[in-house]
Amino acid sequence: MHELSIASNLMDIVKQAVDGQNVSRVTTLRIVIGELSTVVPDCLAFAFEIMSKGTVAEGAHLDFEKKPLIGKCGDCGREFRIQDFVFHCPDCDSPRVEILSGKEFMLKSIECE
Ligand SMILES: [Zn+2]
Repeated sequence: MHELSIASNLMDIVKQAVDGQNVSRVTTLRIVIGELSTVVPDCLAFAFEIMSKGTVAEGAHLDFEKKPLIGKCGDCGREFRIQDFVFHCPDCDSPRVEILSGKEFMLKSIECE
């Protein structure tokens, strides 16, 4: 379960972010997660809950913003939403598809009190 190490990384980022700031507690972490990301939000939320016990981030809510999987055709240039993992251009049926977004995983913002 790699969510544990991700939660650990998140905690490191949060600690650095609030270090020296006048923060009593972290309320929300906004996380951008691509459709193709292998991170399972529920697992991550659970792992983070464990990791954050006794820290300023204890009880913080993880807010996931899902990013759709978008591809671009390498032949005709069309950009389209990839659904059901069909990596073919809907226009020219080319298999040369470049992924523009949908793989990302990042911490977008931290809300504190
Ligand atoms: Zn195409």
